[in-house]
Amino acid sequence: MKIVCIGRNYAEHAKELNNPVPTEPLFFIKPDSAVLPNNDDFYLPDFSNDVHYEAEIYVKIHKKGKNIQEKFAPSYYNEIGIGIDITARDIQQKCKEQGLPWEKAKGFDGSAPMSKAVPLSDFADVNAINFELRINGVVVQKGFTGDMIFNVNQIIAEASKYFMLKIGDVVFTGTPAGVGKLNAGDRLEAFIEGRKMMDFCVK
Ligand code: ZN
Repeated sequence: MKIVCIGRNYAEHAKELNNPVPTEPLFFIKPDSAVLPNNDDFYLPDFSNDVHYEAEIYVKIHKKGKNIQEKFAPSYYNEIGIGIDITARDIQQKCKEQGLPWEKAKGFDGSAPMSKAVPLSDFADVNAINFELRINGVVVQKGFTGDMIFNVNQIIAEASKYFMLKIGDVVFTGTPAGVGKLNAGDRLEAFIEGRKMMDFCVK
């Protein structure tokens, strides 16, 4: 499986990193070796001194598709979860300055802690979901999927022009404002509509 990610999909987050608000989606991919399941501990990599959390809603693909039209996109996913797009910000910054790809900064081993996926039908509307991330008990990110620049169906339509979506793939939908640095000893808890989805520690 692969993780298809969209960058800068919340205007407030684009602004906090001094990035322009995009007019077309910015995609990148994390490989399956990035997945960190089961609330496993996340180990800070030794190649970065500025590892950031980015809490993101994801949907899980359950039907193979390419060039999916936006109006048909809802039939390609039926589960939802929350993940953390962990980013080595210092390395990403260097890559950006040099016009290089971001894989080292965003696709390294363990860079995608993910909750279990739950039925989308547990929630009323994929475009109106509240989610939040707490670190050591303090709310650091609060998101609402209605604030996304490109909604889930638009992301799937656009991404599937380039990347065939296969059963088991997941699509991360971008992070709201409030990203910041992870430190050893941090405890991360992520919630969808008040339901605790994920609880893990940084080592
Ligand atoms: Zn992200």
